[in-house]
Amino acid sequence: MPDELLQRLRQFHDDYFPAEQGRFQSLMEDGQHPTILFIGCSDSRLVPYLLTGTGPGEVFMVRNVGAFVPPHDGSAGYHGTAAAIEFAVLKLDVARIVVCGHSHCGGIRALYEEATPQATNLAAWLELGREAALPVQVTPEALRRTEQRSVVLQLERLMGYPMVRERVEAGQLTLHGWHYVIEDGEVHVFDVRSGGFVPASSAVHSGTGPFDSAPVDDGSPIFNEIDSDLAPHGPV
Ligand SMILES: [Zn+2]
Repeated sequence: MPDELLQRLRQFHDDYFPAEQGRFQSLMEDGQHPTILFIGCSDSRLVPYLLTGTGPGEVFMVRNVGAFVPPHDGSAGYHGTAAAIEFAVLKLDVARIVVCGHSHCGGIRALYEEATPQATNLAAWLELGREAALPVQVTPEALRRTEQRSVVLQLERLMGYPMVRERVEAGQLTLHGWHYVIEDGEVHVFDVRSGGFVPASSAVHSGTGPFDSAPVDDGSPIFNEIDSDLAPHGPV
């Protein structure tokens, strides 16, 4: 029985790599200098390189179930996503952070379902999306709204990371909330001013900004302008 995965490894080395060898050589000699941190759901139908037309060296990526951002709680535990955020911001000095959820997300749907008894880590992890869930009957529309609300919730959590907040407020870093609609092949981008998600085909920018001026830190959430339909902390 042929080992298809082994064949694919050989295809990469034999067919793809020779044409890109110079690029990889440069990335090895000069190091990586990606300008984007992409926090995306692990879903196999979400292919960030295809969506953004990027290749080797351009995106620092962390993916997890639901595209969730854990709180910056200072506990210094085994927080893979939090570690990636700190590395990308402090070491790589990225200029953009994208949080990308998507349609038909199993992680979001699971918020409305019974937990699998053995999946204790998964159950705990899903709590990071709990605030986005709505007290309504599960419908395709409710799931879509929850997916989008969750993206905004994660952006809010990102602002709880001191190194993120400092750079956003200084205009050195922009945050981008995306919702990828698999069946349409289109990303909807969160616009902090209108408080809604706008299809990329009609959007005027790719994220929450551009910020004309640094947001005033008055202790209130930066995303408090969003409408009640999307605000995780707003009325539901
Ligand atoms: Zn997902």
